[in-house]
Amino acid sequence: MLELTKPHSAAGNAPIVDLSGVRQVYHKGDNADLVVLDDVSLSIREGEIVGLLGRSGSGKSTLLRIISGLLPATGGDVRWCGQPVTGPCEGLSIVFQSFALFPWLTVLENVEVGLEAIGVPAAERRRRAIEAIDLIGLDGFESAYPKELSGGMRQRVGFARALVVHPRLMLMDEPFSALDVLTAETLRTDLIDLWIEGRLPIKSILMVTHNIEEAVLLCDRILIFSSNPGRVAAEIEIGLPHPRSRVDPAFRQLVDDIYARMTQRAPAEKAEKRVSEGFHGTGIGMALPHLSTNLLAGLMEALAAPPYEGKADLPDLAATLQMEVDDLFPIAETLQLLRFAEVAEGDVKLTDLGRGFVDSEVDARKRLFAEHLLAYVPLAALIKRVLDERPSHRAPFTRFSEELEDYMSEEHAETTMRAVISWGRYAELFGYDEQTKQFDLENPA
Ligand code: ADP
Ligand code: MG
Repeated sequence: MLELTKPHSAAGNAPIVDLSGVRQVYHKGDNADLVVLDDVSLSIREGEIVGLLGRSGSGKSTLLRIISGLLPATGGDVRWCGQPVTGPCEGLSIVFQSFALFPWLTVLENVEVGLEAIGVPAAERRRRAIEAIDLIGLDGFESAYPKELSGGMRQRVGFARALVVHPRLMLMDEPFSALDVLTAETLRTDLIDLWIEGRLPIKSILMVTHNIEEAVLLCDRILIFSSNPGRVAAEIEIGLPHPRSRVDPAFRQLVDDIYARMTQRAPAEKAEKRVSEGFHGTGIGMALPHLSTNLLAGLMEALAAPPYEGKADLPDLAATLQMEVDDLFPIAETLQLLRFAEVAEGDVKLTDLGRGFVDSEVDARKRLFAEHLLAYVPLAALIKRVLDERPSHRAPFTRFSEELEDYMSEEHAETTMRAVISWGRYAELFGYDEQTKQFDLENPA
């Protein structure tokens, strides 16, 4: 038999995990250090499902690695069951987004692996693995190989492997985000049903997600994680009883509130900071998302048209366009950076300039885009200036990418360069030759 734990109110239970003032800095060779987590404090108690909701790159996976003892924090206090964490914690398992199964092992063997590592005898291993496999709905697939399974079934193996060790805490790092919509929902429902029935051999769950609705559907408590650097910006108790319905007005209200908090406006005097929120860095060192101008123009057009007429509720827009927060926020924020839209209180609103863009013909759009690019994207202005100043009117890619790498990772620098190349081309500010890796003023196309 599995040890059954009936979940109950977690308030008053001793914390399993306790973090205070946790800080994480990644050193990047001779470049500036990257502060990923700053002053993160949180605790997780027995009997609760806690959601850590934040955007891509906000440091969620880093935090999970710190909690699990795989990564020593740069600073702060990390405790597991009251004791300082000095190495990998026992009684904790992780479900990853990618299933990370061993392709040469069967389902049963994949599930047994974790028990082998902690020295459980063979017969006991088998018995517990079969139990976990049955529990998670993989009965009959014991001798199948991962390649014979669908994505949803593979992730069930991932869950079985985490559950088989009967951990006190199960960490989940975006476990549903690689699955299609229906499969993800089935798996969420199965998991929460098992949890409510007290059939999961675990005490608590910490789930990382960038999906607001998923967090409201599953969690007792949600920690909203801010970006650059990551810290806990707000905490929300979800008092709704299970099973929860996504169309319940109380559910919708919570989703709306969270959208609003995640797009909260800084005070007016910090306008410059506000428009660059969501972007790493400022000035030349601002990391830009690589979004096509079609996508940017497309969102402006959708916003201008009925039913929005210039202003839309972000959750509404996300549902209509079938976009997740991580897809939609960067577009909205780029439009804000370019002063074509404003994002506040969970809404995105076209500015007069944004409306002007939508109402213009192709050439006028390009001119407007070019003006805004030069005014509000310092990297675009720098490239243009360097090209204007050089007698050859040419400059290599590395002239700018190397400068960017003083401020950000190589990966972000590459993405930022790609963004500015495609925006600059559209605006006909400059051209870029992929063969010679040179910017030029001659063939802006
Ligand atoms: P999330 O899981 O929220 O998407 P991560 O914790 O994976 O965020 O990453 C947070 C930031 O830290 C990102 O900017 C990422 O590029 C950076 N980062 C993650 N791991 C490392 C590492 N080992 N070295 C340097 N930078 C890292
Ligand atoms: Mg992550």
